[in-house]
Amino acid sequence: MKITDVISEVFEWERPGIWNGGHFYGPGRLHKVTVKTDEGIDGFGWNGGTAAERPLNVFPPFVDYFRDLLIGRDPLETRKIAEDLGEKHIKIFGPGGVNTQVLAAINIACWDIKGKALGKSVHELLGGSQDRIRTYIAGGYYAEGKGLKELQDEVLFNINEMNAGAVKIKIGDPNEGIRGDMLRVEAARKAVGDDVVLMVDANCALDLNQSLDFAHELDKFGVYWFEEPMPIHRYREHGVLKENSKVKIATGENGYHLSHFETLLDHQGADILNVDVAICPGYDIAKDITDLAKEKGVSIAPHGCQELQLPLAAGIPHGEFLEYYPVAVDPLRSEMFIPRMTPDTDGYVTVPDRPGIGFELNMELLDRYKLS
Ligand SMILES: [Mg+2]
Repeated sequence: MKITDVISEVFEWERPGIWNGGHFYGPGRLHKVTVKTDEGIDGFGWNGGTAAERPLNVFPPFVDYFRDLLIGRDPLETRKIAEDLGEKHIKIFGPGGVNTQVLAAINIACWDIKGKALGKSVHELLGGSQDRIRTYIAGGYYAEGKGLKELQDEVLFNINEMNAGAVKIKIGDPNEGIRGDMLRVEAARKAVGDDVVLMVDANCALDLNQSLDFAHELDKFGVYWFEEPMPIHRYREHGVLKENSKVKIATGENGYHLSHFETLLDHQGADILNVDVAICPGYDIAKDITDLAKEKGVSIAPHGCQELQLPLAAGIPHGEFLEYYPVAVDPLRSEMFIPRMTPDTDGYVTVPDRPGIGFELNMELLDRYKLS
């Protein structure tokens, strides 16, 4: 089989603004990559589809660059393509960033082709360890006019209406400080009760001393994990924090390479890795990262678009949680993917056994928001 064309499209739509410890999220955005083959099988990959403030209109020129390197190649050689267009291009584009995110969408599209060609789900091809996986509902963002009561309403909705047994809220907005954020954590804990798993996410907003103070306070409310406390390359600091925190440390959504995770774990800097298959260059590299985690006794809870992460998270035995973005984060989400993923009554999702990724984009809807 040979690749005959690679197509890039960008979509953007309005939605209510939200923010976390470090970033404001305005319009909803999605970058779609279609890989076409001489056997008539098309594969689809994408970036975005969740809270993503990246200006995705900078993505298509990277697809233009990669296209000539892809046409004529066998799309089933996913790892070789990821290496040739990734590591071997560090001199051109640098170690990671928009280029590797675009490469992720290309790799995902090639895996989609591989699954469709073999009549197997990507989930099965990645190991197929779990038929169902526990989800936690992402959210608890900061927003205009959103106080403690509204935060409580949100987490209660996630539990009562979305069947969640685990929820996450944001911390780290400098305007809140540790006092304001701990009131949020306390309010969330009071709302959900003691039996629900509660996580927090600082999106790299804190330094080591702040993180140590937060970890101490978070433990009082039985918080399960403290996600992305500090900027990702502060490996030594992550090790110090983990050693001194009773709350588990989770990080990895912004890690581009296996070597990043190797260094992090060499410093014993995390209990849980939030690898994202649309940030690191796709399923092959992400699987390497999960293999490393298994060897080190660390679990996996991928970050990002749940439709893309599900095959990996449930494909491996140590996939602990799937992050699930609800419509509260983006109202368009309820219709953007086919089939629609909804948690079962026990808060788990069941993996579809359709060939390929298992989910497709609803183009009838998205075409209304096409930019280029
Ligand atoms: Mg996060």
